[in-house]
Amino acid sequence: MSEVDPQRRAELAGRLRAVHDRIERACAVADRDPGEITLVVVTKTFPAADVVRLVELGVADVGENRDQDAAAKAIEAAAALGAGQRPPRWHFVGQLQRNKAASVARYADVVHSVDRLPLATALGKGAQLAGRQLDVLLQVSLHDPAGGAGRGGVLPFDLAELAAAVARTEGLRLRGVMAVAPLDAPAGPAFARLAELAATLRAEHPQATWMSAGMSGDLEDAVAHGATHLRVGSAVLGSRPSLR
Ligand SMILES: *Cc1c(COP(=O)(O)O)cnc(C)c1O
Repeated sequence: MSEVDPQRRAELAGRLRAVHDRIERACAVADRDPGEITLVVVTKTFPAADVVRLVELGVADVGENRDQDAAAKAIEAAAALGAGQRPPRWHFVGQLQRNKAASVARYADVVHSVDRLPLATALGKGAQLAGRQLDVLLQVSLHDPAGGAGRGGVLPFDLAELAAAVARTEGLRLRGVMAVAPLDAPAGPAFARLAELAATLRAEHPQATWMSAGMSGDLEDAVAHGATHLRVGSAVLGSRPSLR
């Protein structure tokens, strides 16, 4: 499939290399091992053909934020990948409706955006029905609650209670926290706050070692504050149509 458009493949390869270079530099600055960091390439709005090209370029983790797109893309990419090629791990990173949970549980390996118990319960049921275990992260809101609508997430105050309930939910493995930096404030302090919350969570749930933070614009800040998973879209794939 990728031979059809070698130019796109070369473009993706170049941008992917540049992102890996940024991660390596950020790790050098923070005195961290790049091997501790998982790059999740967010392929939302881009076709399954790009997922296939990325896998051929060595990408093992891809992210999506809409169930309908992701479900179809996972099937299409798996079919298009060569027999010897391992399909990527699918990370669901977007706001999720409870009625989509069973669908997501069929193809996703990791859900980064669990922010309320009914959603966790539905994901757990879906995972059990599919005979799978889902790794889940609790999305934390780093917005000033007085500042109006955020980008989803449980309030820090409610994190411990949600974590306790998710840890008891069959079909789910509580792995850590996720956040999106606020739009109207610098990312560094927000990720520092997330790191504190992650440490508190880990004290109670030792297996919850993951911290998903950092996107194309702020991955250095995320690495500096201990992120284990970076969710990078446009820096690898190019700019998206602005409506999503
Ligand atoms: C789109 C998206 C990303 C990637 O954003 P870029 O700025 O393109 O790197 C990361 N996380 C979430 C939750 C997203 O929806």
